[in-house]
Amino acid sequence: MSRHTIIIDLDNCMFDTHGTEGPKGCFYPEVREVIASIADKHKLVLLTFSNNRSRQWEKIMSGDVAHFFWMIDIVEEGAGKFPVMDALKRIPSPHGSKSIIVVGDRLDQEILHANVLGYTSVRVRRGKYRTLEPKSQYQVPEHTITNFRELLPILQ
Ligand SMILES: [Mg+2]
Repeated sequence: MSRHTIIIDLDNCMFDTHGTEGPKGCFYPEVREVIASIADKHKLVLLTFSNNRSRQWEKIMSGDVAHFFWMIDIVEEGAGKFPVMDALKRIPSPHGSKSIIVVGDRLDQEILHANVLGYTSVRVRRGKYRTLEPKSQYQVPEHTITNFRELLPILQ
């Protein structure tokens, strides 16, 4: 199996921030099991954007997933002009850009910047942005999933 760097967003991606599927403020039920099953084969990066670092840590710790990640980056929302792009660029890609997989819910953020950088983009169609449609060709995700289990065949 090829080794990927997988950059995963937190809110509305792993974490049901607004309670659109179940109780508000919980990890989606299958996420921890899937993360645990891929953590030894791939380099996992948790990338989240918020000005409330302690709240993001609380969320991460509530899911008992922090130890599966090689890196956890909590980026301030106002950091620079293109904080998502800058954060994605900071992550090393020793096996080439396509081996970097970006998993996120925002077409206008993670998906857009992953596509511009030539990374593999995976949209998690969940949460408050699930009904949005791409506004340009750069917002079209390479893959769309509605459950983390669907990530596994993409990694083959
Ligand atoms: Mg998100």
